[in-house]
Amino acid sequence: MATLSTDVLVIGGGATGAGVAWDASLRGYDVVLVDRADLAEGTSGRFHGLLHSGGRYAVKDPDAARECIHENRILRKIAADCVEDIGGFFVTTPYDDPAYADKFANGCRDTGVDCEEIEPAVALREEPRLNPGISRVFRVPDANIDVWKTVWALARGAQQRGARILPYHAVVAIHRSGDVITGARVRGHATGEELDIEARVTVNASGAWAGQIADMAGIEGVRVLPGRGIMIAMNHRMVNTCINRCQMPTDGDIIVPMRTVCIIGTTDEHTEDPDDHHVPPNEVDRMLDDGEKLVPGFRQARALRVWTGVRPLFEDAKASDTQTRDVTRAHALLDHAERDGVQGFVTITGGKLTTFRLMAEDTMTAVSRHMGDERPCTTKTEPLPGSEDGATYMLGERLERKEKNLVDEQIICECELVPRWKLEESIRRRATTNLDDIRRLLRLGMGPCQGGFCIYRATGILHGLDGLSAEQADKSLLEFLEERWKGTWPILYGDQLRQARLDEWIFQGVLDVEHLPLSLPEAVAT
Ligand SMILES: Cc1cc2nc3c(=O)[nH]c(=O)nc-3n(C[C@H](O)[C@H](O)[C@H](O)COP(=O)(O)OP(=O)(O)OC[C@H]3O[C@@H](n4cnc5c(N)ncnc54)[C@H](O)[C@@H]3O)c2cc1C
Repeated sequence: MATLSTDVLVIGGGATGAGVAWDASLRGYDVVLVDRADLAEGTSGRFHGLLHSGGRYAVKDPDAARECIHENRILRKIAADCVEDIGGFFVTTPYDDPAYADKFANGCRDTGVDCEEIEPAVALREEPRLNPGISRVFRVPDANIDVWKTVWALARGAQQRGARILPYHAVVAIHRSGDVITGARVRGHATGEELDIEARVTVNASGAWAGQIADMAGIEGVRVLPGRGIMIAMNHRMVNTCINRCQMPTDGDIIVPMRTVCIIGTTDEHTEDPDDHHVPPNEVDRMLDDGEKLVPGFRQARALRVWTGVRPLFEDAKASDTQTRDVTRAHALLDHAERDGVQGFVTITGGKLTTFRLMAEDTMTAVSRHMGDERPCTTKTEPLPGSEDGATYMLGERLERKEKNLVDEQIICECELVPRWKLEESIRRRATTNLDDIRRLLRLGMGPCQGGFCIYRATGILHGLDGLSAEQADKSLLEFLEERWKGTWPILYGDQLRQARLDEWIFQGVLDVEHLPLSLPEAVAT
């Protein structure tokens, strides 16, 4: 069996794990990162898209609010190309307790979250679709953050410093020798081959799955309670500012504009299984009703897609044994040498996407201490690849760039303005035939048509490139359509039902996708 050897093995390629890999490689450590799926296919790729200002936690959880505003300011600089500075409003609607607004303003002041009260008329001029009954409005520095851009920039930056990034490699065993963790065994998704990775320190950054990985290491009591939440993407930016209800955090109280769509979320239901992604119809209904409270007429827009994510909510079962039950939404760093007497293993879980950099910093500071050569963290100031100029992303830039060479450039995805050269370059760079991997890289098929017009073109291009067989290209197309369908059928009504029927005619009527030849000739399959 093949083996690799490294200083730091990171398990989990979400924002936290990729952040750890980036931090570790900047400190000069050799790093291997593994994920059982593509990067950011866990909770990070299923979140709401909000770079929190901290306003949401200003009353309920002041420490979280302080962390968020601190990290928000840093990420705007080091991950500028991934952040769109849309700003945020907290609005008191006729459905909210008016007394909360003063508590909110005081909470922001006490936690250092920048907050300015503005006249509702001013807010309504900026956001004319908002509920005209709003009585108070606070402006805060919320933003949106493109998670795939962020995670891949972290991974690319780490790779440039020698890190080995292995998506589609699931940990199947943790190696333990007495009270020392010495690495892990992973299995590659494509070939089924196994690989042993020896590491001086193994970082468990597997989010809602952290308890499962700790179990493999024979460490008890790492309980991560998955909290499932749904989000719905609507077919255009009904607002251009992030809109929050000014009330104690609850379900369906935030709308985040993201690229060409806007996203309403979220719910929070306890589930036993971090891979539970079912979407109860009553939650969809509730979410759309909540949208109406913020933006009257919300339901008349087209709901494009619904998806779920699972919050990694950490509960320290060891603490509960001693009557100090500790359920927290802040991040939890478990140093298993101190907690369990097991060397060479740390777990980092909980937290928020907004605080991934801080989580990585805390983790690598602990790891570095254990390695006996404390090296300083530089992620507060080192820009990610692509963000060197410190300019935050502007939505209009894409169109501006395209307009300069519209005639020369073939556009494959009109919603997300993906040109042909970029699609070809990404397919080759990722060496993938999985159109869902490409979707995550380029946002291909994530706009209002949800792949209806672009994905068969992309399949043709995939087929034309580098001798990929028709059968393999057909398989990729079908897998993509099946994946998209999971997020579409629970919200089919009105215009989106019409769009779905149109897509069905294209794929069934014109392309007859259900009868495409899929059996791979032996030579191609091996
Ligand atoms: C509904 C919802 C909305 C949210 N909205 C926001 C928001 O707007 N803003 C914000 O800041 N935060 C938000 N959050 C929180 C945020 O998304 C998470 O805290 C964050 O993404 C967690 O990142 P992570 O890297 O720790 O975990 P993940 O992204 O889940 O990464 C863990 C990785 O471990 C991998 N893994 C699991 N098992 C194995 C194995 N055996 N071998 C190898 N790899 C394995 C998984 O595939 C996964 O990729 C939201 C969360 C939810 C659920």
